[in-house]
Amino acid sequence: MKTPDKSFFAPAKAWKYLTRKPVTIPMDDILTTPREASDRYRGFHVNDWEKCIGCGTCSKICPTDAITMIEFTELPDVEGSKPQRPSIDYGRCSFCGLCVDICTTGSLQMTKEYLHISKDPNSFFFIPTDEGIHLKKEPLGYIRDENSDLLGLEREEMEIDPPEVRKTSFIEMVKGFSKEQAIKEASRCVDCSICEKTCPAHMNIADYIRDIYTNDLETGLKDLYKTNPLPAVCGRMCTHKCETVCSIGHRGEPVAIRWLKRYIVDNVPQEKYSEILNQEIIKKANAKVAIIGAGPAGLSAAYFLSLMGYEITIYEEKNRPGGVLNYGGPSYRLPDNAFEQDVNYIKSLGVKIITNTKVGKDITLEELREKFDVIFASTGFNKGRKLPIEGADHEKVYDSLTILEDMKNYVRGEGPKPYIPKSLVVIGGGNVAMDVARSMLRLQNLENGESEVHVLSLERTFDEMPADEDEIVEGKEEGVNFHPGWGPVKVIVEDGKLKGVLFKKCVEVFDENGRFNPKYDESKTMMVEGDMVVMTVGQAPDYSYLPEDIQNKMTIERGKVKTNEYGQVEGVPWLFAGGDIVNGPDIIHGVADGHRAAQGIDKYIMEEKVI
Ligand SMILES: Cc1cc2nc3c(=O)[nH]c(=O)nc-3n(C[C@H](O)[C@H](O)[C@H](O)COP(=O)(O)OP(=O)(O)OC[C@H]3O[C@@H](n4cnc5c(N)ncnc54)[C@H](O)[C@@H]3O)c2cc1C
Ligand code: SF4
Ligand code: SF4
Ligand code: SF4
Repeated sequence: MKTPDKSFFAPAKAWKYLTRKPVTIPMDDILTTPREASDRYRGFHVNDWEKCIGCGTCSKICPTDAITMIEFTELPDVEGSKPQRPSIDYGRCSFCGLCVDICTTGSLQMTKEYLHISKDPNSFFFIPTDEGIHLKKEPLGYIRDENSDLLGLEREEMEIDPPEVRKTSFIEMVKGFSKEQAIKEASRCVDCSICEKTCPAHMNIADYIRDIYTNDLETGLKDLYKTNPLPAVCGRMCTHKCETVCSIGHRGEPVAIRWLKRYIVDNVPQEKYSEILNQEIIKKANAKVAIIGAGPAGLSAAYFLSLMGYEITIYEEKNRPGGVLNYGGPSYRLPDNAFEQDVNYIKSLGVKIITNTKVGKDITLEELREKFDVIFASTGFNKGRKLPIEGADHEKVYDSLTILEDMKNYVRGEGPKPYIPKSLVVIGGGNVAMDVARSMLRLQNLENGESEVHVLSLERTFDEMPADEDEIVEGKEEGVNFHPGWGPVKVIVEDGKLKGVLFKKCVEVFDENGRFNPKYDESKTMMVEGDMVVMTVGQAPDYSYLPEDIQNKMTIERGKVKTNEYGQVEGVPWLFAGGDIVNGPDIIHGVADGHRAAQGIDKYIMEEKVI
């Protein structure tokens, strides 16, 4: 590097100050007529408590350890925030402004206020609110700008197949992070754990993201399995409620928690699971537990109970474990091998899964009661439903579960080709409707080289529709036709042939009390032609496996079983329940219920009482 030429006389420039009188501003002058600080002065802090979420990131970054987080019992302890706020020790603060640069919500700022005179040392220890150190509204000083922002606000982009490829393919469309992408995405996490309360399974999210950042995927796998034995499934299909409260989401895009979870399981070979997890099974008692239903809740309970040394047998009506995951998640979202990765590990712990066996038909509950100490019911909402409208009994009018199962079995090569319509009418606007529409669109394209799928929902806008935004956007890209704001009147059948569905305009879905109470403009109708109709209008449970005397002792409200916090069924202490029949409906609630029930069952067996 070339050193700039300097004038020989350069040092002489400083000599001119030798004759200048130093300026000293007397304290009294400052107190009587304080001088205004410069525009970007780094003065005392203010913090907007309404915005602040107590994430503690400001405290972590402070290079002088000036910030301590203080708990406030009067603050609500709700999802998305912690009941704590930062306090600042001005004996330590160097006014560097890093806390302002990193504040996840932008609530913490600096004012131009710089004077604080007190003999009380405690007054230099201050909990900023929006009123400032002297309870006066002072103008803001230093403000973070784009260049000083310390947060990574943008997500690493996830590779996904383009629509032209997707619409003829059942191969998993989301490709997963590379190592570089995963580490970069993990580096956006500020390790605040705000998301963990919102995750129904309270996964150790901050820990496993740190493991990715340090490239220690083996510890990452261990961290995942502390609370979730279905990480490959959840890394793809979880409803990722945690991301809705991620601190980074306040000013940018939330950390891609779900995809990071998937990154760990995609990059640890299945055959090394046992060696890495090296889970110690502590045999507490010689007790046997029967589980009815091998969906997420049943599998989760089986995993946690087997780690406690209990002998577990799952009875499953279908020919493979998985519950709704067997057909609810089409292969382009959940390939079988990902699901098998999770199930194989659970089975490796000694869990016995007896398939093709329906409790209540192939074996009775009384028989199970004789053979086992405790029963865990996780039978889900497995009956598809149809609307009771004219024409709904036509053979080409399907409920969602039946057609999804037919399609997935066909794609797997395990079932006959389902009827592939020229034009499909899907009634409903949730994620189930998206699975039906997008699966059949693929089959139509593969079969006929073209597709026609119409999705009609009561909700009048895409924002109101319960389906995930991604599903709607991707569905549109693939060619699904959406018609929000229409309710079905009747299925039109002529000479025994399905012609389509007549709809009427929906003007309001919920009433002023937020209750589902759709209102229509009967004068506006629309006929949508189709040769197949699928009604995605929810599912129902089937409790016929529970004898009447047991059902009489239980409370079942709106199809859900009432239990205590451990999943123990009220009125029937040896029976526990979880998953969709208690909570949900989503996979991670099932996982969480299975975990809680395992703890409850253990307590019940060890203490032999109502817990
Ligand atoms: C189409 C669709 C898509 C979905 N997509 C998602 C998603 O992307 N993300 C998400 O988080 N959730 C999704 N869900 C919801 C999720 O699948 C469920 O919430 C979850 O599977 C519930 O788990 P569970 O263990 O309670 O019951 P289930 O998964 O329903 O499993 C219950 C099991 O019990 C068996 N069974 C029932 N009765 C008996 C009996 N008498 N004897 C023996 N076995 C019996 C059933 O065969 C079934 O295998 C979706 C649901 C559907 C329908
Ligand atoms: S300004 Fe710097 S030293 Fe002062 S509290 Fe903020 S981070 Fe700590
Ligand atoms: S970083 Fe911001 S939001 Fe988080 S605790 Fe500090 S002030 Fe509050
Ligand atoms: S994922 Fe978001 S909320 Fe969770 S620990 Fe990281 S930054 Fe905090």
